[in-house]
Amino acid sequence: MNIYSLSRKDLENYFESIGEKKFKALQVYDWLYKKKVASFDEMTNIKKDIIQKLKEEFTMDKPEIIKVQNGKDVHKYLFNLKDGEKIEAVLMNHDYGNSLCVSTEVGCNMGCAFCESGRLKKRRNLSACEMVTQILLVEENLKMKISHVVLMGIGEPFDNYENVMKFIDIINDDNGIAIGARHITVSTCGIVPKIREFASEKRQVNLAISLHAPNDELRSKLMKINKVYPIKEVIKAVKDYLKINNRKVTFEYIMLKDVNDKEKHAIELSNLLKGLNCYVNLIPYNETSHIEFKKTDNKNIMKFYDLLKKNKINVTVRREFGSEVEAACGQLRSNYEEEK
Ligand code: SAH
Repeated sequence: MNIYSLSRKDLENYFESIGEKKFKALQVYDWLYKKKVASFDEMTNIKKDIIQKLKEEFTMDKPEIIKVQNGKDVHKYLFNLKDGEKIEAVLMNHDYGNSLCVSTEVGCNMGCAFCESGRLKKRRNLSACEMVTQILLVEENLKMKISHVVLMGIGEPFDNYENVMKFIDIINDDNGIAIGARHITVSTCGIVPKIREFASEKRQVNLAISLHAPNDELRSKLMKINKVYPIKEVIKAVKDYLKINNRKVTFEYIMLKDVNDKEKHAIELSNLLKGLNCYVNLIPYNETSHIEFKKTDNKNIMKFYDLLKKNKINVTVRREFGSEVEAACGQLRSNYEEEK
């Protein structure tokens, strides 16, 4: 078992199970996440015999960084996991802080037509430690503190629900990495039962829905998942989420040239979202060499933006990061595999 997969509660339970006081969990958390030691032997306020037990029970392994691409305000990482699988994370420097986009799975089964990650079918879930250590490794590499985490890397977070929630518990812990819940965003392609389960947990974590189209006909062409959970069901689940969580929901909308970026789409989208406590995040599409979709030009993105505004929909345009560093989800990994 990797110790970075344990919430503080798990660690308390472990210490109690071996007849030790549970505050030891706090001490260990402090060594792992505040002092950031690399071995159990460095935890000098913990008795030798307990250190020995920890060593027998747990590892402190981290993945290995095998490639870093640095751009303006963006750093992209490729990691090699213990079993040789590769995943990515992207650090973005915003004026409000440093945000890390983490991966949640090796590959992805959602099969969205525009997405590079999905070209590799899902091979497995990431464990909580494989998500936590993305943060630790990037912080160490850049000597900076990560203030925001978005679960928008490779994978569908709600297809790896349990490990993702464990990951959130770990990084949100005040005695650990201490990233505030309001600074964490989970993004889903719209797995309705999991949206409902997530709602019932009443976390302060932000929810983002990858919508990308205002009607079922178009959305089903872009996102396979829409055939299972059509727009009406997604919106109903979001409405129910909003009844019990007082947090604005984000709808992500990738702007694809001549596909979903026309005036009629903006109007349809406005009608769909009218009255919901939400905002739309328009995402300039990151083109990739493997997929034929093109990016809407900025002038037309702004036209779309203005139309939503006029229709009283809260809307933002995502700042473009890293088109120079292969920043499309999954692009670094798939290009790396081709170069080999
Ligand atoms: N599976 C989750 C989270 C990972 S994808 C989800 O679907 O939300 C994170 C976001 O990046 C999604 O909105 C996804 O649609 C978007 N995305 C995928 N490929 C992209 C690309 N080439 N350019 C811009 N955004 C992309």
